Amino acid sequence: MRLTILYDNMSIRTDAQEDWGFACAIELPGTRMLFDTGADPQVLLGNMQTLGFGPDGFDFVVISHDHWDHTGGLDAVLEANSNAVVVVPSGVSGELRDRVLSHGVTLKDVTVGTQIAPGAFSTGVVHGGVAEHAVAVRVESGMVVVTGCAHPGVAGMVAAARTMLADGVELLLGGFHLESFDGPGVAEVIRDLHRLGVAHVAPCHCTGAEAIQLFAEAWGTSFARVGVGWSKTWRDASD
Ligand SMILES: [Zn+2]
Ligand SMILES: [Zn+2]
Repeated sequence: MRLTILYDNMSIRTDAQEDWGFACAIELPGTRMLFDTGADPQVLLGNMQTLGFGPDGFDFVVISHDHWDHTGGLDAVLEANSNAVVVVPSGVSGELRDRVLSHGVTLKDVTVGTQIAPGAFSTGVVHGGVAEHAVAVRVESGMVVVTGCAHPGVAGMVAAARTMLADGVELLLGGFHLESFDGPGVAEVIRDLHRLGVAHVAPCHCTGAEAIQLFAEAWGTSFARVGVGWSKTWRDASD
């Protein structure tokens, strides 16, 4: 399984563009998945090209939640790809639904935890403010959990992934939505994630610079500073 960040507030490559929003590619044996689509279609398509991806190469487009900085590139991707299955958390707006269906693609709602493709799962909708789900992918060393903004609380989303797969969390990556949290608030989240057995963390997007620093201190060498262009490969669970 290979994960590549295509859209983020930060870039680790000078030839890719950074912009507020999030998108990443999740490549499994036989399946390619786009998780979220960033804010600006031109930035998304440009970064895809720089990083060797085409909008027509994805079998699934998974939208974590109905916010503009995660759905902005959706129409541009679907214009080039009418074969993709679009997976959304149930409860997204009729406007988003209509946008997806206007491209003639298949729309799939997720309510409870479910398998999207072999080895890749949705946590199901985690409630709390915004209807949002995360994706968990099985790898040899446990599971990789990817969140968009984690509005319902990142620990709750990891707990939902663990309830479904009963596996250790090798990596938790994405937006953790902690910008409005103070130090003690972030410390509590860090305690929860340690208790949930999160081995490596890669907070980005809406996590907030101060919270990211606290994660860096808490996880030490198991912390990854990530952005557009960051990519990592794991052995598949079945290898
Ligand atoms: Zn959001
Ligand atoms: Zn966001």
